[in-house]
Amino acid sequence: MAKKGRILSGHRPTGRLHLGHLEGTLRTWARLQDDYECFFEIADWHALTTGFEDTDLLRENIEQVAIDWLAAGLDPERSVLFVQSDVKEHAELHLLLSMVTPVSWLERCPTYKDQKQQLGDEKTAGYGFLGYPVLQAADIVIYKADTVPIGEDQLPHLELTREIVRRFNNIYGPVFPEPEAKLSRFSVIPGTDGRKMSKSYGNTIDLSDSPEVITQKVRKMFTDPEKIYKGDPGHPDKCPVFVYHNIYNQGRTQPIKQGCESGELGCVDCKVEVIEHLLAALEPLMERRAELDANRSLVREVLAAGAETARAVATDTMEEVRQAMKTAAPAATNP
Ligand code: SF4
Repeated sequence: MAKKGRILSGHRPTGRLHLGHLEGTLRTWARLQDDYECFFEIADWHALTTGFEDTDLLRENIEQVAIDWLAAGLDPERSVLFVQSDVKEHAELHLLLSMVTPVSWLERCPTYKDQKQQLGDEKTAGYGFLGYPVLQAADIVIYKADTVPIGEDQLPHLELTREIVRRFNNIYGPVFPEPEAKLSRFSVIPGTDGRKMSKSYGNTIDLSDSPEVITQKVRKMFTDPEKIYKGDPGHPDKCPVFVYHNIYNQGRTQPIKQGCESGELGCVDCKVEVIEHLLAALEPLMERRAELDANRSLVREVLAAGAETARAVATDTMEEVRQAMKTAAPAATNP
């Protein structure tokens, strides 16, 4: 069956993936595999843009991301799963695209300003951090991906990629398609403290956590602050635990809501029930995860095969780029 287009997306291996990644992107990606040619990249060079000083765990994080991906249903038979730095052509294209990208475009990127504020100057003063969107553009267009699954908040980044593509194509001729956003409503799952789940907040439930650790984390989760004792009426719409019921215990959301609001249901019992359903939902992933973790050679083989496929496409694109830029050596002629 003809595919609708080609997708490029990825994760940075900055730590363990968590429920936010699973519900936010992985489930969507797994579904897209049927309709699109998918390239999924473990973006290790992107991880260096802010984590350049601490690389001890980088290799392990890369394999852990791959394990999570495979366990969550990304299928190497249908998608290309690879590590960014295994395809050196990304670096060449990044360099060449950086020639046509004004610094002012990068400085006005909203995520650049946000991240500078959040992470501080020490981590974000480098040239690599400023050039992050150019590397991202190279990642997408080196595969001539025409579709990028993103949430609305990432639109400015994609628009920057499109601007870079337009500039390149205007100067050198039409080499790259302008990638389009495939706007997806990614589920945002709260962390254990009720804020967005994020490693930087220390509020994650990791896909590599054991059932015991998950149980402990959910037991300690924030709830509606106005419901102190069983018997107090609660507000499920203010409670992160209720969001978990909405995802993992959908058949019981009404009675949970009523029990919480009337005070009949206490938070301890409410959490016991959600833990049971969360663990049941994660069980297949955890089993697959454990098998893959014990079989690292298989994981490495998947990534090596993915890199080979990705490299073949990237090599062809770079040949076209060099021709368009007239930097390719002329073909050898017979004397
Ligand atoms: S009963 Fe459940 S939904 Fe209500 S506040 Fe407690 S944990 Fe949250």
